[in-house]
Amino acid sequence: MNIENFELIYKDNRVIIENKPKIKEKLSKIVGNANVSDNEIDIMAYNKDTTLLAFNWTLEGKLTALPDFIVWPETPEQISSILKLANEEGIPVIPFSEGSGAVGGAIAIYGGIILDMKKFNKILEINDKDLTVTVEAGTNGMNLERYLNAKGYTGGHIPQSLYTSSVGGWIAHRAAGQFSSKYGKIEDIVMGMELVLPQGDIIKFKTIARASTGPQLDKLFIGNEGTLGIVTKATLKIWPFPEKRALISYAFTTFEDSLEATRQILRQQIYPAVIRIYDADETYRHFGHIENAKNKVMVVFVCEGVKKLVDLEAIITRETCEKNNGIDCGEEPVNHWFETRFRVTETSFAPTLKMVADTIEIGFLWDNAANMYHSVLETTKKVKGVIMMTAHISHFYPNGIGFYFTFAGIPPEEKTDLEFYQEVWNTVVKVVEDAGGSFSHHHGVGITRSHWMPVEWGKAFETLKSIKKLLDPNNILNPGKIYESPWDEGMES
Ligand SMILES: Cc1cc2nc3c(=O)[nH]c(=O)nc-3n(C[C@H](O)[C@H](O)[C@H](O)COP(=O)(O)OP(=O)(O)OC[C@H]3O[C@@H](n4cnc5c(N)ncnc54)[C@H](O)[C@@H]3O)c2cc1C
Repeated sequence: MNIENFELIYKDNRVIIENKPKIKEKLSKIVGNANVSDNEIDIMAYNKDTTLLAFNWTLEGKLTALPDFIVWPETPEQISSILKLANEEGIPVIPFSEGSGAVGGAIAIYGGIILDMKKFNKILEINDKDLTVTVEAGTNGMNLERYLNAKGYTGGHIPQSLYTSSVGGWIAHRAAGQFSSKYGKIEDIVMGMELVLPQGDIIKFKTIARASTGPQLDKLFIGNEGTLGIVTKATLKIWPFPEKRALISYAFTTFEDSLEATRQILRQQIYPAVIRIYDADETYRHFGHIENAKNKVMVVFVCEGVKKLVDLEAIITRETCEKNNGIDCGEEPVNHWFETRFRVTETSFAPTLKMVADTIEIGFLWDNAANMYHSVLETTKKVKGVIMMTAHISHFYPNGIGFYFTFAGIPPEEKTDLEFYQEVWNTVVKVVEDAGGSFSHHHGVGITRSHWMPVEWGKAFETLKSIKKLLDPNNILNPGKIYESPWDEGMES
């Protein structure tokens, strides 16, 4: 195996490191010899994250991008020294935790140093009275949840990627878990944080239930995607493990009825931990074995917590579904969801069939949500090569929802995978942005979506870019993400 034999997708604008052995020596001095590598095997292993398009490239024998070094620091001070060195030498630093990101955020598109956070893996303290856990940022999600469960708690943050993502990755991508309507998204769960800024300063946001001491600066770093700071430690909320779970499911004849039922449930301030609406195509794919759900729209609920409250929530959830023409499908669909909730064979299989696939999760208010859904389906199905476009809704608020579209297709002969991918994405984002929605609900921006940041943010995008410049004047920390786009075409607005 020789690295030069592989085609490299991101090869332009790579930072040239003049004296690699000298840099390696300096990195070794900071983290120790065993914690630095420029071996081909390591560099190739870090050529991508879990961006689906990168799977297609892998199957075609291509590498997405190549870092120059991998480092595994163990303390914030080591990270600080690495960043100071990187600033002096003009070398990009790319934070990397579990690499489950789906938008290319951890890909070293200009080369440089991959800073792997996996050695920050200690669960430091549970405070039962305050209901908090303090944890190092590289801690794996499933390890944390299992630890908490064993002690009688839940973290309440259960993304589909729980087994393959980390606390720092959740914070960096402003993630949302499957139980989010009860426990909140990561920005509701983080209470305190330690970070290393791009020029090496170590800062801490104290753990407090609330304060009014000026702007809420800590929020700037939730969703920063490793471009404004590296999270090294966080204090998160935890909850007593639920005493009872009620498993409820209803099938609806129309998508509109299913939306109306869930909207009315939330309006009554009932927050089932899990709510999921599957459109008719996804109902067929996931719940084809449920007789009452044939040709219908399946909605799955999990109410959990203290028994008395759960019983009441379940009564109101059921009544509201029935008022909106829902047909009771019992516990089986929810048990099926529990069994399959971490399975992703559907989308990850697509590249092996030479299909280009992706998921597009968008944020939308309730008003006009059904029309937006129908428009996305109608317009994308017209894109040459699209075979499948379906959706479910997995995040709910009294004021709006998070849609999750999945598409797959075979690029027409005249188009590359990337061109086809961009065309589908452009089509969806145009509909969503024109209707006032957001092009990303929880996967973040990375490299595949930075293209639409000017449309999403308007003039405020300049403010965001100024903050990046202020904190990272040499553009060392994760360059090429969020603020600039490696894609050529602009989206028509
Ligand atoms: C099958 C599958 C299911 C998924 N399900 C969900 C879901 O339910 N909900 C959801 O929100 N997301 C989901 N995702 C997306 C992904 O898992 C999340 O974005 C996750 O938060 C990424 O965590 P990670 O540790 O893998 O981060 P990585 O992929 O390693 O990095 C992600 C980004 O964060 C930066 N970063 C990493 N660690 C740090 C740190 N310590 N400090 C600063 N920046 C850092 C990286 O530079 C990169 O920009 C899913 C992805 C897959 C593949």
